[in-house]
Amino acid sequence: MPYPVRVRLLAGSSNLGVVSMITGRSGDPAAYHPFPLPGDRPVYAPDRIADIRHVRIEISELDMEAGAITATCTLRLAAFAGPLASVAFDAVDLGVSSVVDERGQSLAYDNDGRRLTVRLGRPLEEGRETELSISYRATPHRGLYFNRPDDGYPARPRQVWSQGQDQDNRHWFPCHDAPNHKQTSEMIITVPRGLFALSNGRLVSRHVDAGAGTETFHWALDVPHASYLVTLAAGDFAELVDEGGAVPLRAYVQRGREEDAARALARTPEMMRFFAERLNYPYPYPLYAQVFVADFIFGGMENTGATTLTDTALYDERAALDYDVDSLVAHELAHQWFGDLLTCREWPHAWLNEGFATYWEALFTEQHNGWDEFRYEMWKNANHYRDEDSNHYRRPLVERTYRQPIDIFDGHLYEKGSLVLDMLRHELGDERFFRAMQHYVHSNARRTVITSDLARAVEEATGRNLDWFFEQWAYHGGHPALDSSWSWNPDHNQAVLTVKQTQPQDSLTPLFRVSLDVVFHVRGHEPVPLRLPVQDKEHVVHVALPARPWLVQLDPGDRVLKSLNFERDEVQEREQLAEDLDVIGRIRAAQALGKRATPSAVAALARAVREDRFWGVQAEAARALGAARTTAARDALVSLMDIAHPKARRGVVDALGAFKGDGIAAAALSTLLRRGDSSYFVEAEAAKSLGRARIDEALETLTWVMAEKESWEEVIRRGALDGMGELRDRRAIPLLMQWTRPGKNQIARGAAVAALAKLARGEDKDDLVERLTDLLEDDSFRVLMRTIPALKDIGSESAIPALERLAARHLDGRVVRACRVAIRDIRAGTSRDSEVASLRDRLEAIEQQNRELRDRLAALEARGTPA
Ligand SMILES: [Zn+2]
Repeated sequence: MPYPVRVRLLAGSSNLGVVSMITGRSGDPAAYHPFPLPGDRPVYAPDRIADIRHVRIEISELDMEAGAITATCTLRLAAFAGPLASVAFDAVDLGVSSVVDERGQSLAYDNDGRRLTVRLGRPLEEGRETELSISYRATPHRGLYFNRPDDGYPARPRQVWSQGQDQDNRHWFPCHDAPNHKQTSEMIITVPRGLFALSNGRLVSRHVDAGAGTETFHWALDVPHASYLVTLAAGDFAELVDEGGAVPLRAYVQRGREEDAARALARTPEMMRFFAERLNYPYPYPLYAQVFVADFIFGGMENTGATTLTDTALYDERAALDYDVDSLVAHELAHQWFGDLLTCREWPHAWLNEGFATYWEALFTEQHNGWDEFRYEMWKNANHYRDEDSNHYRRPLVERTYRQPIDIFDGHLYEKGSLVLDMLRHELGDERFFRAMQHYVHSNARRTVITSDLARAVEEATGRNLDWFFEQWAYHGGHPALDSSWSWNPDHNQAVLTVKQTQPQDSLTPLFRVSLDVVFHVRGHEPVPLRLPVQDKEHVVHVALPARPWLVQLDPGDRVLKSLNFERDEVQEREQLAEDLDVIGRIRAAQALGKRATPSAVAALARAVREDRFWGVQAEAARALGAARTTAARDALVSLMDIAHPKARRGVVDALGAFKGDGIAAAALSTLLRRGDSSYFVEAEAAKSLGRARIDEALETLTWVMAEKESWEEVIRRGALDGMGELRDRRAIPLLMQWTRPGKNQIARGAAVAALAKLARGEDKDDLVERLTDLLEDDSFRVLMRTIPALKDIGSESAIPALERLAARHLDGRVVRACRVAIRDIRAGTSRDSEVASLRDRLEAIEQQNRELRDRLAALEARGTPA
């Protein structure tokens, strides 16, 4: 489904990993919140009232000004078991004017605004088909959206686009609006001449009516699909055509952005070949179209054969230096198999859509960018999931207790889902894993699936019964917390390795069974690999080796989802950072060295930032220098601000923000901003870091950045807005207020909201709370999704009535759940984030003291021992 707006798109690399390492509390059962909110009940797929075989939507008028449609929807259906006297469809607020059968006979119906129940003239016998045509007019508030210019955004293009997932298409055509049923579809749409209209499948015909000033587009899809995948997108689009591959490709984009669209979608043909080959299953539809629309409420949506993408995924040449949207494009394309061809039968099993799309997006990274990038991406997925697990809630992957399906489209469904598939691959080995994937696709194509269908396909293809695997990963929550250490027994030439599972068990969190790879490296000898089947609380393994190993790799590649505490000494960590072939091993070594913060650890980290061959390790080593917070670490970072890879440089600049109150770090960041950098993202990060450094002069530079720095999607100004929030300088309030107003970039407005919330502390926060509460009336989804958590963080009870009103009226489930969580937390008076913030402040003060002590100690030691 919807590729969430939140995470990767526009966010770039994050340092969530570091946060979750510091606060990681996954071991403590009291530390995780339950997922369901008060009043949530188990949800089951609805009954299928009739076997709907085909849906034909004919929109005779698309009223762009009124945001309305006039349409006739014709459904061909049969009875599952006759005789069938009436059928009911999901249909929200459709102004139905008539229902007729295939002979044109009017039928009686009952329309309560939620369901349309039609009484069939003659009861339908089992196996017999009939056709119903429903004529209606609708002004949809969900499902179908009309973009128009307004005072704030006079340049907004006139476009219409749909977003059906999870259950919103019922707002613009009557249907069985649940994924447990599939039908073929057809869309015949008449639009004002000059607009192009896109729907699913192939374009059967287009026809101009010069007299009426309209054009009619007729689309048809012969492969059955779920109602939520039916799409419509219309606008004054330029068309990009690529007929060079096995599948015809089309892209539609607002005129003037053709080059940006070509840039964003450049690797679509390569992705198409890769997925079809790896799955041994050709792309299943006649055409693959991608359309960019403005103000889209997700990152992307995999409508069958016709993906919708946000136009914020269009980026310019300068952004292309260190940014692309391959992950988004690959994600939606992967859904054409996983989601569209094989569809989760009910939302609780939606990881079969989202976990798969997220994993196959990563598999394209492996294909295109290699193993290191792939493992780093999976490591970030793991951090994202662990952050949700320790800071928000723990839940099983298959979760059926929720208010609205969108509630479960989270870091479990996407990121953890991808990690579960990666562990399945680890368990089976590559050959058997891909054989199982192919069998799963071939045996379930055009059908709906639940988790047991995957388990069965794996067993049929490989003989492996993995019920235990799915039991722990899909139907339970959490992950193993491993404590490990090793020692050398010189008398027997043995390494003694201990692995303990320390997570407390409860009904949700089991004792896990995982296959942990361990590799012992002895200089001058071949590595000794071992696969340790961990399933008990404690394992002790004795391994005979020719000599003491210099490196013990525990789970190289980070193939098992876990939290890990692995004890080594500093020498081992330094050698691992310098020489481990596994990027995650090097990153873990860097993080451990950052905590040590000794002069030798800092020197090793600085060398890694300068010399490591993978930018991800360079960036993480830089962040570890930030965590070390010694003067030597700061000096090293300042000297590394010119390293070549922009993503590594961004890590360096990010790390400098850790030096609070440090004039030298702040001056270096200011200089970078005044001078400029080839990368938007490095400048944005520098602005944010400058705020984090919290010196008084920072505001002047940030204000200058706000005045001067134009960038794609306001990336740099967003960094400065973030920085103003970090700075906690109330003089920034007027500027921040100004940036919350309509007319500004919507993502930047959200950043201004979040910054204001950080300034809302102490006595005089009432004016800010008032402004934020006013923003709960805003039209922008992005603004709401920053404002609600901001009010939660502030913990202001005065916001509760407005949050309650919003929860009751808003039609976006994400907004509703955010409100409910905010209300719960404000009421409980346990605003977690303010607690975290105050603990962080205390921690920072202590670390600052440590840093000063370390510096004094190092200075004394450097003087040498008196003679
Ligand atoms: Zn998705």
